Amino acid sequence: MRQKAVFKMTMLAIAVMMVLAGCGSNNGAGNGANSGGNGASNNQAGASNGTDVSGGEKEASKGEGVVNVFTARHYDIDFQLFDEFEKKTGIQVNEIKGTAEELVERMKREGESSEADLFITVDGGVLNYAKESGVLQPIESETVNDIVAPELRDADNHWVAMASRARIIAYAKDRVTPDQLSTYEDLADPKWKGKVLIRSSSNLYNQSLVASMIELNGEEAAAKWTEGIVANMARDPEGGDRDQAKAVVAGIGDVAVMNTYYVGQLLHSKDAEEVKVGESIGIFFPNQDTTGTHLNISGIGLAKHAKNKENAIRLIEYMVSKEAQEMLINGSFEFPVNKDAELPAIHKEWGEFKSQQIDYSVLGKNNKAATELMNKAGWK
Ligand code: FE
Repeated sequence: MRQKAVFKMTMLAIAVMMVLAGCGSNNGAGNGANSGGNGASNNQAGASNGTDVSGGEKEASKGEGVVNVFTARHYDIDFQLFDEFEKKTGIQVNEIKGTAEELVERMKREGESSEADLFITVDGGVLNYAKESGVLQPIESETVNDIVAPELRDADNHWVAMASRARIIAYAKDRVTPDQLSTYEDLADPKWKGKVLIRSSSNLYNQSLVASMIELNGEEAAAKWTEGIVANMARDPEGGDRDQAKAVVAGIGDVAVMNTYYVGQLLHSKDAEEVKVGESIGIFFPNQDTTGTHLNISGIGLAKHAKNKENAIRLIEYMVSKEAQEMLINGSFEFPVNKDAELPAIHKEWGEFKSQQIDYSVLGKNNKAATELMNKAGWK
């Protein structure tokens, strides 16, 4: 049993590394995003900040005026938010970057001497992996509980979502009409043969989608679905989500499975070709009459041995505040977890949709089975 558990964690760790490798280019994310293993904290003592606590404490990573964030999300907008938080509170945010696996391993290894106060990552399954690794503790905050709905928080409040994203179907507006689309399941129907674009099975977004289908439809149905998708692929999987949209517009396939925020990024790209791609695809939220569109989250966990616990909770409270959420979603084009946040125009255009109602821990729990099904189906 023990061996099995270790194997499962290893599989998840590999998946985590893969998705983060694939995610590094989001939003022009910071350089050296995966170089978190050297233990150096990214001390921002030089940042313009007139409101810091008294001088000498700034350099100390364990001083009263700091919070140490272990983050596997390397989006520029996150770091802009940390800067805003610094300006507002005088609490210095130290960013320690790495893959989720590296960071969780380090927190485990360093135990009580860990300098981590917060852990940030994409994917609900990965958040749950951190919880089960024993590196988190409950976030006690009425503010957070009031803002973030219970389904977007861990049952024991070890982590809280800071944003969400939907995995949707993008379609060629000139060749497909929305009434031809319905569900993820339908994309496995032979009528889509040679028309489906989707990235590889090593991608955590797809693994989590299949993991959710195992939960909702059962393993047998999920296996059939992966086989049908492979049979309908327009080409062998290549590239990221944006590349699937580009291939739709290039006429390689008619429909692509991708995350919503990439559509926002295409439409706001500095590259005119990307903007054109964003404008040429239609967006369809699948499974509205059945199980709902697959949603995944990014979230923040409170480190078990946080030395700056109060500051850490203040940063969590800031990250889910209306102001920070509005900045976040206008930078990343994810969905907010704060209902009061004013939505960007594109979100308003998409409108409301029904989302999957599953426990996010299921994504981690079913990850190994999902990966196995995809491999067995020959999903490259
Ligand atoms: Fe991504």
